[in-house]
Amino acid sequence: MNNNKGIYLDYAATTPVDKNVMKEMIPYFSEKFGNAMSVHNFGQEAQQAIDTARERVAKFFNCSPSEIIFTSGATESNNLTVKGVVKSFYSVSRKKGEIPHIVTTVFEHHCVLDACHAMKKEGLAEITFLPVGRDGIVKIADVKKAIKPNTILISIMYVNNEIGTVQPIAEIGKLIQKLRSNNQGIHYPLLHTDATQSVNYFDCNVKKIGVDLLSFSGHKIYGPKGVGVLFAKRGTPIRRIQDGGDQEYKLRAGTHNVTGIVGLGKAVDMLTASGKQQAIIKKIISLRDYLIKRVLTEIPAAYLNGSKEKRSPNNANFRFDNVEGEGLILSLDLEGIATSTGSACSSGALEPSHVLLALGLKHEQAHGSLRITIGKYTTKAELDRTVKVLKETVQRLRKISGNVLSEFK
Ligand code: PMP
Repeated sequence: MNNNKGIYLDYAATTPVDKNVMKEMIPYFSEKFGNAMSVHNFGQEAQQAIDTARERVAKFFNCSPSEIIFTSGATESNNLTVKGVVKSFYSVSRKKGEIPHIVTTVFEHHCVLDACHAMKKEGLAEITFLPVGRDGIVKIADVKKAIKPNTILISIMYVNNEIGTVQPIAEIGKLIQKLRSNNQGIHYPLLHTDATQSVNYFDCNVKKIGVDLLSFSGHKIYGPKGVGVLFAKRGTPIRRIQDGGDQEYKLRAGTHNVTGIVGLGKAVDMLTASGKQQAIIKKIISLRDYLIKRVLTEIPAAYLNGSKEKRSPNNANFRFDNVEGEGLILSLDLEGIATSTGSACSSGALEPSHVLLALGLKHEQAHGSLRITIGKYTTKAELDRTVKVLKETVQRLRKISGNVLSEFK
């Protein structure tokens, strides 16, 4: 995508709304503006649009429409999962003095990590943060080892948002099915996956991957911002964490974002056109591999962070010796190329990325990293220009840092 603002290579941060998605959304801003909870005609029109979106999303995930909860995005879905499952534990099956246990990984998105930290700080849960290997993948044996009799929830992301590595969710799903114990009629531990970065590219059939809960955001799949989904399997013990109206099966209070929900439904529906989507994925993989090959062969001391094979089609995360990632993205931005050093939410802070540190990288290596994420509008010409500018910029920044270092010798 190369409009007058330049080359956009930050598709993991967000994507533009697809024209076809936009077209379906427009009438719901002002012409069909009803509140879906109203009984009159205006309200019913909005309700029908939500029903259609819910059916489309349910079809994609191979679940029942009543298992789809619309939220404001993955942040809310993840908070609802962690806090809502803990809340339900206390309301349903609390034995005196029993503290529930949650297993997650050190490199989840901050919305999962911080929700877990909050539960721990309030004394409501104990948390195990699993390590990941140098390849950016969690080991199934570590998951198995971490499970205790009081484990109620395992939350492991499907695709990491910074390095794009793919976690073995279906295998973890199988393991958990075997290990489940019946706690007062409830089957714990539950399995949740943050699928925000995987819906575009990986199998999200919830029955196949064996999850009880799954979250994602509309704006990562060419849909609008401010709307997301939580899939919650029927019978999953979860309580709402926000008080108010009875929307979304009483799990998520607040007037529906009808326009957003309609857009999300259409964006998901477009992914279901499997022939078309497969062709898009194939093109993105070949562009990613082209980029990785050129960067690793043409730029000295350049490395790929995370597994090359178990990697999202759209993600290339590089590390360059003796280069500051922040300097790199600013220089690229001046040349009209939009990239990122890590997740958009944590960039701006000069702390090294928790994801890169989790791989075992040193602080200076984590600081020398750059995330390039491509999407369905990316072209080879854009990548050619990016490689050219990247080569020149890395060389220039190394020269500057070399000069600075030699002055201090
Ligand atoms: N989880 C992952 C893996 C993400 O990539 C993001 C967005 N960067 C989120 C959660 C949060 O999504 P949102 O900001 O749309 O709520």
